[in-house]
Amino acid sequence: MLNQPLYPISIIGDSSTGKTSLIIQFTSSKFDEKMSATIGIDYFMEEVTCKDGNTYKIKIMDTAGQEQYHSMTLNMLKICKGILLVYSITDKDSFNNLESKWINEINDSVDVNNIPIVLIGNKKDLEDERVIEEQSAREFANKFNLKFLETSSKTGENVDLAFKELINEVVKSKNNVNKNEIKNENQNQNINNNININQTYILKLDNQKMYKKQKKKGC
Ligand code: GDP
Ligand code: MG
Repeated sequence: MLNQPLYPISIIGDSSTGKTSLIIQFTSSKFDEKMSATIGIDYFMEEVTCKDGNTYKIKIMDTAGQEQYHSMTLNMLKICKGILLVYSITDKDSFNNLESKWINEINDSVDVNNIPIVLIGNKKDLEDERVIEEQSAREFANKFNLKFLETSSKTGENVDLAFKELINEVVKSKNNVNKNEIKNENQNQNINNNININQTYILKLDNQKMYKKQKKKGC
């Protein structure tokens, strides 16, 4: 479709919480027990038909979650229209880092109150290893006014729902005056260029499987 809007969204959170696995499950309905670590920033394209009947191109920016990619992540957040913030229900640090690290990181780039964010507690299938109760995460989500879902990229439970929640919020807010856009208007072209340049430098590990493909999804 010509002039089809493109919405960049990003997925952030500690390493090994299952960010890449969530994207693979959403875009390809697959799960890999031996997922290779993400290097820098990677991206996936998807077409999603939303409740308003329109089809939107979504660029899902996947991040490594490591300190050395901090500035790349900050730049990426500036151009994103929505964020999936991920912790693992089996990893206390990944939950504790939501506020001490990731909310601060978002606030360094955009106003956390001014961008749609869905909080995801992943690895829901590992109930025996759970260390973060759903209620604690719900309280955290309420405090920051985030939508919240527990998911499993292994079984696929709630994965589509989490992405669709975010995409619907992004599309809903598209006609609103976006203060972040005004704030970053002059920087966006440069950032876009930088990210494209970075992508050419982000080499996948030789054994990393390629999952990039486009398909249509309903919202
Ligand atoms: P990322 O670093 O956040 O991108 O995490 P990955 O997607 O690379 O996943 C890290 C590890 O956790 C991999 O071994 C995945 O197979 C595993 N994993 C990811 N999501 C789930 C899940 O929902 N359930 C289970 N049991 N394992 C998962
Ligand atoms: Mg990854």
